Amino acid sequence: MNNVSSKYILFLIAGLGIGVFVYYLFQVPDIQIEVNQNAPVADIATPAPSITPDNSSAPAPSNSPPGQGVVFEPIDRVLKRVTKKPFGIKISPKDSPVSPERFSGYHTGVDFETFSDEQKKDIPIFAVCPGKLVLKKYASGYGGVAAQSCQIENQDVTVVYGHLRLSSISRKLGQALKQGEQIGVLGLGYSPETDGERKHLHLGIHMGKNIVLLGYVQAPEGLNQWIDAMTLLK
Ligand SMILES: [Zn+2]
Repeated sequence: MNNVSSKYILFLIAGLGIGVFVYYLFQVPDIQIEVNQNAPVADIATPAPSITPDNSSAPAPSNSPPGQGVVFEPIDRVLKRVTKKPFGIKISPKDSPVSPERFSGYHTGVDFETFSDEQKKDIPIFAVCPGKLVLKKYASGYGGVAAQSCQIENQDVTVVYGHLRLSSISRKLGQALKQGEQIGVLGLGYSPETDGERKHLHLGIHMGKNIVLLGYVQAPEGLNQWIDAMTLLK
């Protein structure tokens, strides 16, 4: 009789256990399924960084510099371009990275070269900072040249954009240029648009509000009035 009643109790306990198990199988899993369904949705809603589209070929919006410096890139792929003449390099007709050379002195700007497939294309040039257009004209040594008055890091500067096609500069003198706004396009190489120079951008940044177009200074101390644009782009 004892055996029979203990077996009965065991069955009762096992039955209760199965009952509780079945109860949870139908009740608790509902909640777990909901949680599990929600989790993947959250994962999908957060895109992985690698999915971010490559914007390198498209100009960035006007008020968001592409992240490589305090100024906007004046030309597409600015840091991938060859700089035959960096800031401050001493040039003479006998000793120059460019041939033939007609200039001499210390280079006040940075030259950004064009790629071989860009020679016959319009290459847009963008305002590196927000500020007024204060000069556009034809000047010896440049062909078309534009100057813009800006503040960079709370300092007044005048930015010189050399070797532009003068007719492509649509803004009038005194008009404000937004940062990243297209100023014009590069002049055709070895033509009056560049005053006979190869197709490239000369970018000079002079301290203060005076419009100084000098591409070279004759003494190294003269460079103190100029800022190396590369330091603002990197
Ligand atoms: Zn230059």
